[in-house]
Amino acid sequence: MDTRFTWVGGRPSVDFTATLGKREQAPFERIPEPADLGRWFREAGLTQDEPAVPGRAYRQAVELREALYRLFTGTRHAADLEVVNRWSSRPLAGPRLTSELRAESATVDLPGLLSSLARDAVDLLSGPLADRIRTCAADECSLLFVDASRAGRRRWCSMNTCGARAKMATYRAVG
Ligand SMILES: [Zn+2]
Repeated sequence: MDTRFTWVGGRPSVDFTATLGKREQAPFERIPEPADLGRWFREAGLTQDEPAVPGRAYRQAVELREALYRLFTGTRHAADLEVVNRWSSRPLAGPRLTSELRAESATVDLPGLLSSLARDAVDLLSGPLADRIRTCAADECSLLFVDASRAGRRRWCSMNTCGARAKMATYRAVG
């Protein structure tokens, strides 16, 4: 089981849904512990220091993740919108000015990080790429990605993994 994080979504909110792997077959948790969630935010580049993750915030993060997944895959539940809106409408701390006149980003806590994910999702779902959110075409892969290609015909989460495997299968079938 590969518990490394994947970054093929094109948007942080989409990558966040990939922290539950193999959704359609044998789902497995890539963030089984609160500390894993902190690590995800650091590896996602959303914070330099791993934030502390209290148990309640961890459960809220998983709740937000599942609401995002349903919204990205076309399910519309009022409860999911409520979860996303609760986080997206939360005020975020702005930058601070130091005595040397440098901008210093505010310390981001876990609620702030969840808020930034929710804001990313609002921007995506209300924007021009909303109908370009796709599930990878490979049977064994449930990763979502945003198809930002001009033609809009991207089928695989990544050409290096699922795309390459599909190509190999085609060659084998022909040969
Ligand atoms: Zn894939």
